[in-house]
Amino acid sequence: MNPPLIEALRQIVGPRHVITSADQTLDSFEIDWRGRYHGKALCVVLPASTTEVAEVVQVCLHHQTSIVTQGGNTGLVGGGVPDSTGSQVVLQLRRMNQILHLDSANSAMTVQAGCILQNLQLAAQQQGFLLPLSLAAEGSCTIGGNLACNAGGTQVIRYGNARDLCLGLEVVTAQGEVWEGLSALRKDNTGYDLKNLFIGSEGTLGIITAATLKLFPLPACKLTAWVALPDLLSAVALLQLARSHLAAGLTGFEVMNHFSLGLVQKHYPHLSLPLPLENEEAPWCVLLEQSDFQNEAHARQLLEHFMEHAFTQGLIKDAVIAQSIQQSDSLWHLRESIPLAQAAEGLNIKHDISLPISKIPAFVQSIEAVIQQNYPGVRIVNFGHLGDGNLHFNIQAAPSDDAKAFLMQNEASINELVYAAVKAHQGSISAEHGIGQLKVDELKKHKSAVALELMRRIKRSMDPLNVLNPGRVISL
Ligand SMILES: Cc1cc2nc3c(=O)[nH]c(=O)nc-3n(C[C@H](O)[C@H](O)[C@H](O)COP(=O)(O)OP(=O)(O)OC[C@H]3O[C@@H](n4cnc5c(N)ncnc54)[C@H](O)[C@@H]3O)c2cc1C
Repeated sequence: MNPPLIEALRQIVGPRHVITSADQTLDSFEIDWRGRYHGKALCVVLPASTTEVAEVVQVCLHHQTSIVTQGGNTGLVGGGVPDSTGSQVVLQLRRMNQILHLDSANSAMTVQAGCILQNLQLAAQQQGFLLPLSLAAEGSCTIGGNLACNAGGTQVIRYGNARDLCLGLEVVTAQGEVWEGLSALRKDNTGYDLKNLFIGSEGTLGIITAATLKLFPLPACKLTAWVALPDLLSAVALLQLARSHLAAGLTGFEVMNHFSLGLVQKHYPHLSLPLPLENEEAPWCVLLEQSDFQNEAHARQLLEHFMEHAFTQGLIKDAVIAQSIQQSDSLWHLRESIPLAQAAEGLNIKHDISLPISKIPAFVQSIEAVIQQNYPGVRIVNFGHLGDGNLHFNIQAAPSDDAKAFLMQNEASINELVYAAVKAHQGSISAEHGIGQLKVDELKKHKSAVALELMRRIKRSMDPLNVLNPGRVISL
């Protein structure tokens, strides 16, 4: 405890908005979504404005206390929870949840960082716009967290990552200054791109307090198809075919192996799969989404024509096209239930990797063989955003093994095998989840010495006292 600091923080945000473990359990702020990291906070501070955030930083600097910024606490790499020292302040931004401005003519929306992503999607929709950032955690994650992690999600194939959707930012620096970079410009070549330095920095360079986001026209209709395939080579060929038939109308292309869907069936038996998993000739499924700006008849004609070609070329074994919005939502719900079903099955060894799309089949074939040979009986949960070359290639212990013990014992050696294969196929060890605490050591092995040194120099110059999320992303 540090009573003078707590008192100073209470003066800034009001006594009710500084919480300590003497007031209530802090578990929801101290434990990450996966339950891997259990830290201990000095206190949790909930500011309501940018000015308050800046003052909190200044006070923490004065007391030489570091800050861990937190949005929805849905991050998967342990970046948003405090360490175990009990000396860090958790800066929780959920009270900063106002939509500040929607500029229809500029197709842009300015919002505070603590807004829940789903609330922003709905607000945009009510004004006739699409905010295309979409991920399974959208009911809890915040736009500040999305930008801090440069989140991806299910529509990157058409609209890009969080970075691509951001026009401007407001940031509180590690010195407690406010950088007012809330530009709504689509072109601005006036020197170094500060906005893009903060995006993806996972709270280590500054605290994002507001953002201006790009909006897009709402499609007239969306169609969703669920397709069964014999292998990943066919999935990659199907993607290519879909691009040529549907062009910019292709807004989602997700792949799932049968084991990942089997977990959904096991843990959520009320969700029904559109095609049976027993078909051994088709152990992969693709969920494909098409958006159309004309009308449903036009969309259906294009999609059916594409499907016919795919069948003729022998790429797919079976397919279902959703006949209603409800059916389409159910298909997406199945896909989005995979991370939850995995969590219900127990701890697993996660790899959020990206590869050139053309190399994915060879990568998966070689790494699955190596894993099965070295760890007989383990189960491979393989799903992800194939259209972006992004796989969630996760290893679940054999049913007879204790999941936690298996993870503790084998994570390092399995990571070594997986990341060596990723490197051999010119991939990246983090596609969209970031580095956080989880991958700091891995980053050292996989980035060049020059890249690491440049990152350290940036961190030291922007946060010389190492007050923001110390120990995350880059070790100094
Ligand atoms: C079920 C599930 C599905 C997911 N699916 C996807 C997916 O498809 N694609 C994807 O990219 N990710 C996915 N994620 C992970 C994803 O990164 C997070 O869900 C989200 O982007 C993080 O937002 P958050 O508000 O929860 O951030 P937190 O978890 O609170 O924080 C994440 C990081 O950002 C920092 N941070 C948070 N807010 C700020 C801020 N305002 N300023 C500076 N730093 C800040 C934190 O310090 C931390 O380092 C998924 C997670 C879950 C649980």
